[in-house]
Amino acid sequence: MLSTNVMLEPTESSASMWEQGVGDWASNEVRWLTCCRVFDETHDVKTFAFRTADGSPVRFEPGQFLTVSADIDGQQVQRCYTIASPPTRPYLVAITVKRVPGGVMSNWLHERMRSGMRLRAHGPAGAFTSTRAGAGKLLYLSAGSGITPLMSMTRASVDLGLNRDIVFVHSARTPADIVFRDELRRLAALAPGLRLLFVCEGHGDEHGWTGEARRLTLPMLMRQVPDFATREAFTCGPAGYRHAVREALREGGHDPARYHEESFDLSTMATAAAESKTVEVKAAEHASTFNVRLSKSGKTFPVQSAETLLAAARRAGVAIASSCSQGVCGTCKIRVLEGDVAMKHNGGIREREVQKGFRLLCCSRAQSDLVLDL
Ligand SMILES: Cc1cc2nc3c(=O)[nH]c(=O)nc-3n(C[C@H](O)[C@H](O)[C@H](O)COP(=O)(O)OP(=O)(O)OC[C@H]3O[C@@H](n4cnc5c(N)ncnc54)[C@H](O)[C@@H]3O)c2cc1C
Repeated sequence: MLSTNVMLEPTESSASMWEQGVGDWASNEVRWLTCCRVFDETHDVKTFAFRTADGSPVRFEPGQFLTVSADIDGQQVQRCYTIASPPTRPYLVAITVKRVPGGVMSNWLHERMRSGMRLRAHGPAGAFTSTRAGAGKLLYLSAGSGITPLMSMTRASVDLGLNRDIVFVHSARTPADIVFRDELRRLAALAPGLRLLFVCEGHGDEHGWTGEARRLTLPMLMRQVPDFATREAFTCGPAGYRHAVREALREGGHDPARYHEESFDLSTMATAAAESKTVEVKAAEHASTFNVRLSKSGKTFPVQSAETLLAAARRAGVAIASSCSQGVCGTCKIRVLEGDVAMKHNGGIREREVQKGFRLLCCSRAQSDLVLDL
């Protein structure tokens, strides 16, 4: 454990906010977070717990993520991290980060973030949550750091005493790589409806390992979770893992409409985006040009129907906060006051926000002249 010196005591102001209800923090709003605890989960995974600068509680759904931003070597770097802590403990948000070899943000957090340091973050975003899945049986499938959204959901469920029927299947390289291993066991002891299955590729240094010691397969799932096809499935992990799980479930007769997944790997989405960009470049030969007006500054700039509003704004020198550029993180959410746009997002915006006129500029294209609330 690196540091544990600040225990979270709700301040007077946060206590009164709690009485009024937990505050909203929009995904396009930046707030400061203060680190209050850092601790090791495994040899290459750490948890960083934060409170908001004014101690106010945070409202989010289990499975949602924050987009954190830091100045690293003179560059502003933004990355998404799931809030691994549950919304039932709203005074503290914790992210659990795996160190990625050569990775900018994960290594900076591991090496530099300490109790008392501050970090900027955009508010909670994302739609990967089991809270809207009804009361049915659940199947959580995760690998590596993909455990974080499912951990938030599990912690919330146990905190609320829901005793939901959850089978939580987590895959790791070795037993030593299982994130939250002891805590999950404690939670399972508290909630009889929660069943754990750890699947490791090998036993590593743990020679007494009696769990599964190979990759997750359909026969293993059929043997360990015979009713898996009747469960609402939530999967998070690397692209190859998600592909294997999707195929196994489909082969095993699981209804794809009851399958939900979260990707931490923006590069797979970026590939799809790049492919669609190639099509757009061809389409640009026939593109129309529209005018964008910013209602607050009065600034105007042109946008082609084939390019994203974010790209056009950047070209015109308009600073718009953005992170993933794939319609995932919700950082570039802005209300369109007039005109039509076509948006193709990846879960970074909710239907009710769309109804209110918000759009993600990174994945929206103009279909007419526009006025933006900016
Ligand atoms: C919705 C969402 C939720 C997430 N939640 C979590 C979570 O809970 N926990 C977690 O650990 N992660 C999570 N992630 C992943 C996280 O956002 C980061 O992608 C991850 O931490 C790696 O970031 P990094 O800055 O360390 O690595 P990056 O700097 O982005 O590098 C990633 C990889 O690319 C390689 N690379 C970097 N630059 C180059 C280059 N110029 N040429 C070649 N290779 C290069 C690096 O070596 C590394 O292998 C989440 C992602 C998303 C989208």
